[in-house]
Amino acid sequence: MKVVIYARYSSHNQSECSIEGQLEICRAYAQQNNFDIIGEYIDRATTGTTDNRPQFRKMIEDSEKQLFNGVLVYALDRFARNRYDSAVYKAKLKKSNIKVYSARENISDDPAGVLMESVLEGMAEYFSLELGQKVKRGMNLNAECCFYNGGSVPLGYKLENVYDERFNNNLKKAVKKQYVIDEEKAYIVKKIFEMYANDTRMVDIINYLNGLKLTTSKNNPFNKSSIGRILTNKKYIGIYSYNGIEKEDGIPRIIEDDLFEKVQRELVRNGLAPARSKAKTAYLLTGKLYCGKCKDKMTGTSGTSKTGKLHTYYMCKTAKHSKDLCNMGKVKRKNIEDIVVELAQSLLTSENINQVANKVVEIAHNSQDDTQLKRLQKSLRDEEKRKENTLKAVTVCEDDSTRKSLFDEISNINENIKNIEKLLIQEESNHILISTSEIKFFLKQLMKGNIQDFKYRKMLINTLINRVYLYKSKIVIVYNINNREQEIEISLIKNIECSTVDSTALP
Ligand SMILES: [Zn+2]
Repeated sequence: MKVVIYARYSSHNQSECSIEGQLEICRAYAQQNNFDIIGEYIDRATTGTTDNRPQFRKMIEDSEKQLFNGVLVYALDRFARNRYDSAVYKAKLKKSNIKVYSARENISDDPAGVLMESVLEGMAEYFSLELGQKVKRGMNLNAECCFYNGGSVPLGYKLENVYDERFNNNLKKAVKKQYVIDEEKAYIVKKIFEMYANDTRMVDIINYLNGLKLTTSKNNPFNKSSIGRILTNKKYIGIYSYNGIEKEDGIPRIIEDDLFEKVQRELVRNGLAPARSKAKTAYLLTGKLYCGKCKDKMTGTSGTSKTGKLHTYYMCKTAKHSKDLCNMGKVKRKNIEDIVVELAQSLLTSENINQVANKVVEIAHNSQDDTQLKRLQKSLRDEEKRKENTLKAVTVCEDDSTRKSLFDEISNINENIKNIEKLLIQEESNHILISTSEIKFFLKQLMKGNIQDFKYRKMLINTLINRVYLYKSKIVIVYNINNREQEIEISLIKNIECSTVDSTALP
């Protein structure tokens, strides 16, 4: 495991462990855990309140190159100033499969922390609050939010106005356009993909569509090149792209990955498209799904059937190696994900939403380091008191020269007050306070979201699911909410839904 160390020392906190001390403890921890340290990022703050952390930002930037798998810190408060920031940055690192390790604390042992982090991470993702805004400064703001950036709108989509509240002082800038599915046309796209996947010849597809007097997005009859453009357009699987930046789930999808993949293979086979690397199937339960029998992780695996259809499963890692060690079978990816997502969503009752929102705000509030803020507030009160006393002294003063010196003192105090107020504003901006109503809003979106929509599936799982244990007869789900646990008989689910577990694989 390759890790980098991040250390930070701010001079205004005297009780802090020195950089050297932090590094020493991190190195010892790395040795114990067989971590290979490949770099160190160190920020030595010179002033009390500015917190630019250039090395931290460099570390975040470098993380995208995926040269390391972990960031090791002496303590979590070195990593981020508050838990909100921590969640946002962790989510960012997670995208590059990088984990944060603390040499002093065991992060996973704190259920309250897990709840808050998962909710904040989900929110950060939902509101696109990712640091992207600061880190990838050059990235176009529209592209960041997957807004329409000009050009032709593909068949099956239309544009809808949305309000971007970051521009709430400028209505013209605040109104953006985003892609939504045009249900009246989307079925044509689906039909084209399905026909092509089922070996229908290109010319027959064209004749079929034109025979029905259907037209392209530009109201022209279909031809080979317009069909070709449709069949290879990644927007249909939800990928938004602009200036070489691709965002998964950036727009609503019309075509499922399996179908899209199949069509791409057909196109290659028919010499109509260049071969390209296999698209990744997202296994949303990776890292959360465990084999109930041997407690090993269940990981994604796939196979292509004779008809060319891609089948995706989760399988116990131990069972994969040896049927003697564990005889747990495969489970269909979609089936287990469907169950988990559905149960997670049903957990989001109004009562639970209120409870979670209050809890998260409470934890976030308690974990803020507000010593600096309190110190400044106290100095401000002190100076104001001093000013009041000095003013009183002026009114009873009868000596001109004393009076003059008192006035000088007052103007000094005013100067001090101005400075403290400036520092206070800076410090307050470091304390992002999150409100219960914001959290409730986010969780309500998850409650209402369409669980067939990849974005919601992913967010529901990431936010609410801690672990899932799959047994042959039951599923045990551990939620992030208050470490709640739920047990479901597989036979029971079977009655509600289609088959849950590939029964041939599960004797
Ligand atoms: Zn197993």
